[in-house]
Amino acid sequence: MNRFENQIAIVTGAGRGIGESIAKCLADGGAKVACISRSEANSAKVADAINAAHPGAARAYAVDVADKKAVEETAAKIFADFGRVDILVNNAGITRDGLAMRMSEADWDAVIGTNLKGAFNFIQAILRPMIKQRSGRIVNISSVAGLMGNAGQANYSASKAGLLGLTKTLARELAGRNITVNAVAPGFIKTDMTDVLPEAIKTGVLAQIPLGSFGAPEDIAAAVAFLASADAKYITGQTLTVDGGMVMA
Ligand code: NDP
Repeated sequence: MNRFENQIAIVTGAGRGIGESIAKCLADGGAKVACISRSEANSAKVADAINAAHPGAARAYAVDVADKKAVEETAAKIFADFGRVDILVNNAGITRDGLAMRMSEADWDAVIGTNLKGAFNFIQAILRPMIKQRSGRIVNISSVAGLMGNAGQANYSASKAGLLGLTKTLARELAGRNITVNAVAPGFIKTDMTDVLPEAIKTGVLAQIPLGSFGAPEDIAAAVAFLASADAKYITGQTLTVDGGMVMA
């Protein structure tokens, strides 16, 4: 299915986990994908895998999304390499958990810087050309923690809730330019980020999931691909929760 034929996508945090799956899913749909991660090795590994299946469909870039200047330089390289950007998926994210009372300033700043400012950095870096071309899709990866809050994740929940405000505001600012901006809020998805959690926490979370299992990165990729596709042309400013029924509004 070539629903993304002739389209250029940027996926941040594409070196592993959910971002890797999103990059592969968009490439399977015919997109050319700029795979971004912090480490060169991880984004290159994913780009190589995509190119093995779809020759020439992917390029790897390494950048810290929290670094505005470095993001601008990377975006300039992407425009030089691909010519345009049709889809931006802000997926790069980290956790630095701890109770608010004891949370260090460094842990607060790192999470807000990567998860929230990082998304804004990439949006700003691609926005002028996207506005000029009068079409585009932006998908921000939030979290159920941004919807419900989560003890021990003041920094993470704030960053993910912040992404929802950013999503709605940009949806309003950009609707007239035929650019949609939506968010996906994953529940508990099996990746490196969640593998490190203690078994007792995993068991507790599982008990709260009506569908009775953790999600897979592909479950999130499918939702992102839908929002990035022409099928979602009349959807903007929305949050698609993909969590096995954990949060029901
Ligand atoms: P992983 O930890 O498995 O992967 C994170 C990816 O983000 C990696 O590729 C990493 O790069 C990249 N990354 C992290 N920090 C930066 C940075 N500063 N600059 C550039 N790239 C960076 O995470 P997941 O796949 O589990 O999560 C992906 C997104 O989904 C995150 O935003 C997360 O908050 C969100 N999410 C995840 C859930 C889950 O249950 N897993 C639930 C809800 C939301 P590198 O590979 O080089 O280290």
